[in-house]
Order: sequence, then C-alpha cells, then structure tokens
Amino acid sequence: TNANLYALFQTRFPKDLNAPALVVPDGDTVSYGDLDKMSAQVAGLLSTLGVAKGDRVAVQIDKSPQAVALYLACLRVGAVYLPLNTAYTASEVAYFINDAEPKLLVCRPQAEQALFEVLKQTPNLHIMTCDGHKHGTLWVDVQSAEPWNEIAQVEPDDLAAILYTSGTTGRSKGAMLSHQNLASNALALHDMWGWRDGDVLIHALPIFHVHGLFVALHCALLNGSKMWFMPKFDVDTVIDLLPKATVLMGVPTFYTRLVDHPGLTKEAASNMRLFVSGSAPLLAETFSAFEGKTGHRILERYGMTETGMITSNPLIGDRVPATVGYPLPGVQVRVANENGDVLAPQEIGVLEVIGPNVFSGYWRMPEKTASEFRKDGWFITGDVAKMDEDGRVSIVGRAKDMIISGGFNVYPKEIETVIDELPGVIESAVVGVPHPDFGEAVVAVIVSEPGANITDATIQDAIKDQLARFKHPKGVFIVNELPRNTMGKVQKNILRETYNATFS
Ligand code: ATP
Ligand code: MG
Repeated sequence: TNANLYALFQTRFPKDLNAPALVVPDGDTVSYGDLDKMSAQVAGLLSTLGVAKGDRVAVQIDKSPQAVALYLACLRVGAVYLPLNTAYTASEVAYFINDAEPKLLVCRPQAEQALFEVLKQTPNLHIMTCDGHKHGTLWVDVQSAEPWNEIAQVEPDDLAAILYTSGTTGRSKGAMLSHQNLASNALALHDMWGWRDGDVLIHALPIFHVHGLFVALHCALLNGSKMWFMPKFDVDTVIDLLPKATVLMGVPTFYTRLVDHPGLTKEAASNMRLFVSGSAPLLAETFSAFEGKTGHRILERYGMTETGMITSNPLIGDRVPATVGYPLPGVQVRVANENGDVLAPQEIGVLEVIGPNVFSGYWRMPEKTASEFRKDGWFITGDVAKMDEDGRVSIVGRAKDMIISGGFNVYPKEIETVIDELPGVIESAVVGVPHPDFGEAVVAVIVSEPGANITDATIQDAIKDQLARFKHPKGVFIVNELPRNTMGKVQKNILRETYNATFS
C-alpha cells in the first residue's frame, strides 16, 4: 500500500470525472478529471526540475485552481509543500526560504523581482511564477511538460508539508506534517461532520493555512464535492452562494460580517446544513445572533498548525457556544499542570494532545520540539483550557497571554468575558504590560458600540463586584477595532507593544 495522501484522494474522486471540483465564481470550472490531469502535468514539470521526494517546494501565490494543482502535484511526487502567507514581504519570505531551503519557489509575477533581489545568493533555488490564472513561467512550462501520471510511494511518516505557524505569539515555526498526519485528520473530520453525497462547500478561506488548505479542501476532496472556490472572502458573494451550497467553513470574522449583512436570513440559509468556525474563538454573541437570524447553530472546532484539528463540537448533539467540544476520533486530550500532572475536571491548565494527527516536530528546531513534547509523546499545545466532567473542552486563552500581576495568575479571558457582557461593549482584549510595583498590570482594550459612552470609570464600576481586585484593569483604552491577522486572530503582541509604556 501507498500512504500517499494523493492516492487516498484519487480513490475518493467521483465516478464521473467530469464532475466539478473547483468552481471560481465568475471564472473557471475545474473538474475532478482536470484536477488529476493538471496535477500530473505539474508533477511532470517538477520532475524535470529535479524536485524529488523530500524536497521542499515553497509557494507564495494567489488562491486559484492552479495553486491547488501545484499542491496536489507536490503530494504526487512526494515533495514537501510549503505554502506562505501572501501578505509576507520579500524579506519575510527570505527568512522562510533560508530556513526551509526549498528547491523551488513559486511566486506571483509581480513579486519575482523583489524576491530575486533578496534571494540571489541562495544556492540551488529555482524561482518560477504563477499568477493564479494561466500565466507565469510555471504555467508556460507546464504546458510542454510530459505528464507524470504516477503517485510516488511514501511511508506514513514521510513529510507531506511544512506549514509555518501564524506567528501570533512569536516567530513562526515550521511544523513538519506527514502524509499520515494529514490523512488521519481529514478522514476523522469527513466522518465526524457527516459529509454526504451532494454536499457543496463554500471555500472562502486562504489556502496557505491549515484551515483552508487542509480542513476545508481535504474534506471536500475526500467527498468528491464541488467547491465554490472564492479567491478571497467577500460577504456579498457568500450570501449569493448560500442557496447553492451546503457547507461553509470560516473564521469568526466571516460570521460577524455575515450577521451584519441584511441578506442573512432563514430563507437564504435554508439549503445549508453546516456552518463551521475555527482558528480563533467565536464570540458567544456571534453564535446567538447567527442562530437568531438563520436557525443554524455554528459548529465550533479547535486545532492548530502542529496538530490539525483536535476537538470539535458534535454534528448531532449539543453545540455549546464558547466551548470547542470533544476530541476527534483517535485523538486524546488532557488538561495538565506545568509538571504534566493531569488535572481534575473544571480545573484550568494547559491542553495536551496525542494522536496520529500530531506533527513530528518543528523543522530544524530540535530543542524547541523537545521542550513542547512530554517524554511519553504528549504534545503541549500552549493553550489554556478546562474540561467538563463529560470531556467537553473550553479554551480559556493562551499560556503566553497569562498575566502575573502582584504574584497572582490572571487569565485574560475571564476579564474579557465580564467586560464583553457590559452594555455598549462590542468586544475586548485584556493584556499584561510591565508595571513597576506589580510586575505586570492588567490593561483592557475595548471596542464600544457607536454612541455608547464607555469610560474607564464605567468599566471599573461595572466589574468591581464581579472580579477580585487584582484582576481589575489598571488601564482602560477604547479603540475602534482590535488588531487582527488574516485568520481573525487578535494580535495581543501588538497590543502589548502599544500599551507597553503605560506605567513607566
Ligand atoms: P504561533 O504558534 O506562531 O504563535 P498561532 O498559534 O496563532 O501562532 P496557528 O497554528 O495558526 O498559529 O493557530 C493555532 C491556535 O489558534 C491555537 O493554538 C489556538 O490558540 C487558536 N485557536 C484555533 N481554533 C480556536 C478556537 N476555536 N477557539 C480558540 N482558539 C482557537
Ligand atoms: Mg501556536
């Protein structure tokens, strides 16, 4: 048998290969047969370039069917796919290239010159271009390449991809993911979320991140489903597509935008069977507003680059807002203290995970890898969590965001939850900043509703009976919006920098 993920996909392609795989609204339609052919042709080109099993292929191009074909071609030849956020600048890309040493970099035509400048000293690197349509040197050369219709033989632990983490808490780390990691997670999700004949996915996520590339794309490929393949999220287009689709996967920002849209109605969503949210916490308020407008309870799941998906709310059963549900089949989780002692239900600690989905380590960071794994193989996620008596998980925050003020541990989420419930508050982020007496001081950054008169005094007054004194913010700042990255994650590092000098 061959553990190659592409071999698994191929067994799941629809019988009629003319069935659509990727449909770009107002653009190309690519059938499953086309996708198979395109990936074989790109695989042929990769082989002529000398890209072999284990070689890295770095890719920073616009989301398109061509980009999917390139990913699948890498799987086919056993190369290691390394997608990069299209927002990264040339000098940021240079860091990843020097770290991962790929044989090939595929970039956008307009970025080629700048990348060439920063990478011209890099030995043995081919640079090719692809514009997400049929232009660019890669696509020109693909036309004349001899298709490679085979699928390289790989072992379950052979690498399929290196995905760099989002860099929310520090410098991005390259997570090494094997064919088995990806296949096991995709099969578990496909099963758990009840994928069935006739499902159609609205794919509006970027494909340089685990959510869009693995969770969304893999589920649909395993199901032989059609995907509405949007170059980027556009709320009007998503509203238009709802009647022609059954599944949407999104980050919380998608859902806040949808809730604000007048076109989001029960009727518009009546053909849909599943709305999934992840990558960042979904506000309970968004969950209820969405249910109010559509009757659908958003299914929230939790995962990370290093592990793929870890837990999910149930398809059948109660989807509880502000919780992330139960571990996926085959995956085990526990909440532990710093020493790795397992805590009792409801106690707060760090979530640890073990299973076939868990990565083998950070690329060329053996010490970092060793420090994030227990000796018996459990991976320490760095997410602060608690578990119910029945095993339902809630994410309370990140260990790195925990504040130690006057010797007390303060979990930002607890304070955020109280502030978010106050009238006139849309959302909040709580961070710790240096303080001469307390070590760190609690600072609350708040987005208020237009016209709401929220001040330091109203906040202090409203929370004084709800939270212990050491948790009260020593600084309150009202802002128009919180800084977020492409995946909708609040960038607390930016907030810490912004308010760093508040007490000095
Ligand atoms: P870095 O590791 O580089 O600091 P990152 O952890 O943000 O960045 P990702 O791997 O993209 O990079 O994100 C995984 C993290 O996203 C998880 O560890 C968790 O903190 C957060 N996350 C994902 N889904 C959820 C969710 N449903 N609720 C709360 N947090 C979530
Ligand atoms: Mg992380």
